[in-house]
Amino acid sequence: MRFITYRTSDGACHPGVVEGELVRTIVAPSLLDYIALAPHERLARHSGETLPLASVALDAPVRPCRNVFCVGRNYLEHAKEGARAMGRELKLPEVPTFFTKAPTAIAAPGATLHMQAGVSNEYDFEAELAVIVGARCKDVREDEAYDVIFGYTAFNDVTARDLQRAHQQWFKGKSLDDAAPVGPSIDPHDLAIAFRLNGVEKQHSTTGNMIFRIPRLIAELSRGMTLEPGDIIATGTPEGVGFARTPPEFLKDGDVMEVDIAKIGVLQNRISIA
Ligand code: MG
Repeated sequence: MRFITYRTSDGACHPGVVEGELVRTIVAPSLLDYIALAPHERLARHSGETLPLASVALDAPVRPCRNVFCVGRNYLEHAKEGARAMGRELKLPEVPTFFTKAPTAIAAPGATLHMQAGVSNEYDFEAELAVIVGARCKDVREDEAYDVIFGYTAFNDVTARDLQRAHQQWFKGKSLDDAAPVGPSIDPHDLAIAFRLNGVEKQHSTTGNMIFRIPRLIAELSRGMTLEPGDIIATGTPEGVGFARTPPEFLKDGDVMEVDIAKIGVLQNRISIA
């Protein structure tokens, strides 16, 4: 099933499930509330009402209550290009490198991302598969990790590289408003992952290239730490990001970014830098 959050003409947001060209309304205040239900309680919330998918505007499928969990350097070729660009020796982590992005950075699929020219000169993109947690859980074993997943979606870990360097800790450079576009829908399958900038492919890989697979990420993250329904875990980006290119290629005002993940869809956002 493919879940979305859509916006009606009065500005209100509603959860729904996509059925071909239609959206079936879900009776819940938000997709976050729906995800928090026990799995056996969810189907009863699917209403008898449908509306054309083409008639609704998409919002981010979930706007989590707390920071988005992210994984740094989770694709070997991206770890290599990063080390090369920074003039450092490649050292692979033995455990996942977790960091977070502020929930205020979440943006909708199709939305223009408004960035400020005075804040950063080095806006960059990162195509990622994101996991949506489906149940409150802690100390999850790798062999039970898939039981606590609600679904998957596309994510762009938009990063201000100069802030990321200046502040050492990545939080600030990763958390500017609109720096976490997510969507369009959540579907529990994963495959090829690509990023296009103004229609030109910049990243192309498969989620099979992750250094730490999703069960390991969930097991590590949940060790001694509770995960909540609706938590987002962005699983890292493959090679091809802007700062590691020769010469570096940072985002420009008006650029159109597309994160394309097979079977999930295309997350498209235009960036405005003013
Ligand atoms: Mg990233």
